[in-house]
Amino acid sequence: MKKIDGKFIAFEQNKILKVKIDKLKKTHNIDLKLVVILIGDNPASKVYVKNKSIKANELGIISLVKSLDSGVTEKELLELISSYNNDESIDGILLQLPIPDHINKEKVIDKISVEKDVDGFNSKNIGLLALGRPQVIPCTPLGCLKLLQSETSLSGKNVIIIGRSNIVGRPLSFLLTNENATVTLAHSQSKNLKDLCKDKDIIIAATGIPKMITKDWVNEKSIIIDVGINQVLNKDKKKILVGDVDFSEVLPEVRAVTPVPGGVGPMTIHCLLQNTFDLALKRRKISLV
Ligand code: NAD
Repeated sequence: MKKIDGKFIAFEQNKILKVKIDKLKKTHNIDLKLVVILIGDNPASKVYVKNKSIKANELGIISLVKSLDSGVTEKELLELISSYNNDESIDGILLQLPIPDHINKEKVIDKISVEKDVDGFNSKNIGLLALGRPQVIPCTPLGCLKLLQSETSLSGKNVIIIGRSNIVGRPLSFLLTNENATVTLAHSQSKNLKDLCKDKDIIIAATGIPKMITKDWVNEKSIIIDVGINQVLNKDKKKILVGDVDFSEVLPEVRAVTPVPGGVGPMTIHCLLQNTFDLALKRRKISLV
């Protein structure tokens, strides 16, 4: 019975990363630059982008937010990404999802140079991850891995991931397979989900269904990672965030579980900034000793 404190782990890892960023600036006079493209006025996206920018600036990474009207054309977006790809001063490009339906998501994601793809969603980077030769690992899956590694080794562990989206569940299944875990990737068509979860060492919930995982899904040895971020109304009709796991019900029944907020979220941001740093060193052919 333990809360895995993602906020604290991210805080500690960000401190280490900041030292490296400061060193890069001091020794090579480089200011790292991350561009975030935000399309339209989705309130949740605005909050995510703001949080990423605040943390980037805190760590010494210049964060430029390019806000575009929801009517932007695919051609305009492709041209913009192309200009960022060719701009030597830009180290990372992030396209905040979701984007409007009239734009081909796969096409624009694949336009982002693999060298600046800090989200790791470019199909080449996902393919390399699937083949066990990752160049850059998507931020939320990498955050989940780091949280798990703070608790246990992955080799030989039986893991279930619930949710097979391209940004969370699917890349996470590749990542944990690469770590020698035995991975079940479940989704909305999976049968007997509760039974599939019951005997697992690790359960990762990424469905977007508030408090779906309750105490009868878990065992006393299970470690639970809750990726979900769901806005619901509490008893006083106030908006609050909850995960896909009923945290207070599950906590006493398991070995460890992440809270929402304060679990995967801060680690996702940490991994974004770590990816920006790592890709910058690689592209600029710098090794910091
Ligand atoms: P998505 O909607 O793209 O995918 C949801 C997945 O859940 C699908 O694969 C679907 O098959 C599965 N699913 C839906 N209902 C199910 C059910 N009843 N049983 C089993 N599987 C079911 O969502 P996403 O983008 O992967 O995000 C999932 C959740 O994670 C959301 O709450 C999102 O806000 C959150 N999220 C958090 C972070 C973070 O940094 N903490 C990052 C990304 C997403």
